[in-house]
Amino acid sequence: MRELRGALIGCGFFARNQMHAWAGIPGVSIVALCDRDAARLDDMGESFAVAARFTDAAAMLREVRPDFVDIATTAPSHRALVELAASLAIPAICQKPFAPTMDDARAMVEACERAGVPLMVHENFRWQSPIRAVRRCLASGEIGAPFFGRVSFRSAYDVYAGQPYLAEGERFIVEDLGIHALDIARFLFGDVTRITARTRRVNPRIRGEDVATMLLDHEAGFASVVDCSYATRLETERFPQTLIEIDGSEGTIRLDEGYRLTVTGPDGTRHEDVSPPLLPWASRPWHNIQESVALIQAHWAQALRAGTEPDTSGRDNLKTLALVEAAYLSAAAGSSLDPREV
Ligand code: NAD
Repeated sequence: MRELRGALIGCGFFARNQMHAWAGIPGVSIVALCDRDAARLDDMGESFAVAARFTDAAAMLREVRPDFVDIATTAPSHRALVELAASLAIPAICQKPFAPTMDDARAMVEACERAGVPLMVHENFRWQSPIRAVRRCLASGEIGAPFFGRVSFRSAYDVYAGQPYLAEGERFIVEDLGIHALDIARFLFGDVTRITARTRRVNPRIRGEDVATMLLDHEAGFASVVDCSYATRLETERFPQTLIEIDGSEGTIRLDEGYRLTVTGPDGTRHEDVSPPLLPWASRPWHNIQESVALIQAHWAQALRAGTEPDTSGRDNLKTLALVEAAYLSAAAGSSLDPREV
């Protein structure tokens, strides 16, 4: 097995999960770190015993020449960093949201394709084991042909405490969380021909929208609903669970609160506990997301070694990002539109 030496850019809130996950993947090591903020850089360096620390990404990549770079910064920096990696022929993983605009995202994909460099977006929600259990069940044909789907994420969890920038942007829930739910809808139901979105802000202390309701028409000929909210107080807080409903010609699939999978088919109903494992470094309630980080990063290592395209490649993610952009356009105009035209 080829040893892979990685470098990480962005030592912030979420990157800690990425560092723990790399440490658990055989044959992969993070050999250098970069952050503009020296205190964060040192903190991460000390936590994970990485001595090579840089405040300048170009200096790090030129000196260390890693086998890949893991970009864990926020979206405004992504284009410059991905283009930097491409210019040095270094394969790159880039956190979501991939880019602030479609033009930036397309330029990033083109830069990597021109350089022949693999590019994966860290779109990890479809790697959650409960979501994969739903997909396996759907693919088995047990419920027949699907005619309705719903991907739902409703919570009142204080995400702003760990990620204060989420309260400050003009855009919030579709770009930050809806993007994952839209990607899950693509993963389960296929690509989208039309989207209708309505958004609103309920929490007066934030700038962007914290509620979104979206209707997707799929190429497969049926519609699904993707709904998300960070303004929904429930008896039991579900963060960060995504709930799924699928109705098919022969039965139904439900992924309910508490990772309970219920499948009803011609022969009756069965229940399964599809709770994600609690990895040694993980903590509740984030363990579901944390496991998906470990799984997507293991997928990247495997794809990089095999020379195959990762599932959530930059090119694939253009379709998810187009749904985000189209959702904002649809909500602003009160219309519906074809995401392939944005
Ligand atoms: P953060 O602000 O806590 O951390 C980002 C870090 O990047 C900061 O320390 C900053 O100094 C550094 N940085 C920014 N630009 C840089 C540059 N050009 N060079 C070097 N360092 C630079 O942000 P976060 O909350 O960790 O989020 C990072 C990204 O992860 C965001 O895009 C966010 O949407 C994403 N995220 C993904 C998930 C998921 O489940 N996939 C969950 C949370 C956050």
